[in-house]
Amino acid sequence: MICIIGAGIMGACAALHLVEGGARDVIVIDASEPLSGTTPAGAGFVARFGADHNRRLGASTIPLQDYGLAFYRHLHESGADLEYAGNGNLVLALTQTSLDTLADGILAHPQAAPGTRLLDSDGVTEVMLGTVDPAAVVGGVYMPEGIQLTTALAQQEIVARLEDAGVQFHWRTPATGVRIVDGAVTGVETNEGTIDASTIVFAAGTWTQTLLESVDRRLPLIPMVATRFVSEPAGLSPLMATVQCLELNLWLRELQGAFSWGGSFAYRLLSALTEDGLEFEYGRPVSSVLLDAQHAHQEKIAEVFPALSGRATAETIQGIPVYTVDGGLYVGAVPGIEGLWALAGDNESGITHAPGMGKLVAQLIMEETPFTDPTPFRLDRVDPAAYPDEASMVASMAEDRIANVAKLN
Ligand SMILES: Cc1cc2nc3c(=O)[nH]c(=O)nc-3n(C[C@H](O)[C@H](O)[C@H](O)COP(=O)(O)OP(=O)(O)OC[C@H]3O[C@@H](n4cnc5c(N)ncnc54)[C@H](O)[C@@H]3O)c2cc1C
Repeated sequence: MICIIGAGIMGACAALHLVEGGARDVIVIDASEPLSGTTPAGAGFVARFGADHNRRLGASTIPLQDYGLAFYRHLHESGADLEYAGNGNLVLALTQTSLDTLADGILAHPQAAPGTRLLDSDGVTEVMLGTVDPAAVVGGVYMPEGIQLTTALAQQEIVARLEDAGVQFHWRTPATGVRIVDGAVTGVETNEGTIDASTIVFAAGTWTQTLLESVDRRLPLIPMVATRFVSEPAGLSPLMATVQCLELNLWLRELQGAFSWGGSFAYRLLSALTEDGLEFEYGRPVSSVLLDAQHAHQEKIAEVFPALSGRATAETIQGIPVYTVDGGLYVGAVPGIEGLWALAGDNESGITHAPGMGKLVAQLIMEETPFTDPTPFRLDRVDPAAYPDEASMVASMAEDRIANVAKLN
């Protein structure tokens, strides 16, 4: 029996690839209700983010991004309603200095996708179909392969396919520990008794650290609460590109004619929020401090995206991406415990990477040749002892685009 712990996009993708690879007797347990974790908060940007020297993900992640792009395109083409669109991703620059940095990092990247190109403000108007005030920007770098989708729909679709394949889901069943005999896993301990399993995958998002602690292991992980707003309909074109802007600390896209947007102005370390009284167990947090911070920021963003000015908010949703000290992802065996595997450290890009991470862990479990080198994703690549507390982990994020947020806390 293979037991996946966590039915978010990571656990669902791991289960799907195990089943597609021929594994039998796969079950998935989740502490909470369907769609209650971080995944539905995800904004649904998917692109080749590793092909950018300004990000810490590194080029080893590009095969996972390519696989994720192909995976979602295939789901979409096979008839799943994901609110999928392939309009590319634009990294916007408000100043020439920023445009030069983007050009160095993305255009000059040896693995830049064909068609990656520099845009001036007229070019920005073209791919943004009027959503950006051209006078407020210098230009940007356009990544043509970028897609967008609705994350909850993707998660739901994968779970439905797994159910059709006979995979059992146990909802409201928190794993509390792992039974280990002679150094190998034999079962998952839950509030409803122990489930026999000779292979276990931790895919519990921000809660994976607690599961690792239950087997006396630790990874240097930094949970961060992030916020997404969906505006009232604003008449945006469904053909506009997804957008990111370093100077505004912003990501933004169209969703059913409205703005779906957020950025590090409304992010904060989970530890800082819980110290300030945020109560949180499973599910998604609600931090009014961050909601206020994002509301306060809206008119600044509207200086570049005029239709956002004064626009009411229809929905707010928060979730907890988990950052790593080296900016990389974790996919692999939990050292020293036979049969135990983990997917962790999504770096706020788990929608993009879950298909590839799920495929890779499935191939490692099934002892197949992995589609990409698993070495950069190993759990033992960083010594957790080098990071005795969160402050030391945050300090290691100095190069990260959200480092200032982490420092502020
Ligand atoms: C505002 C925001 C915007 C984002 N935008 C993007 C984006 O544009 N593109 C992108 O690629 N990524 C994005 N992300 C990141 C992405 O959403 C996450 O990386 C991804 O959803 C993480 O999926 P997961 O399966 O690891 O976690 P989750 O979805 O949280 O799933 C973990 C599951 O484990 C369960 N669980 C926890 N503990 C236990 C236990 N003890 N026993 C059993 N089950 C347990 C939980 O109930 C939960 O269902 C964004 C995130 C946020 C918050």
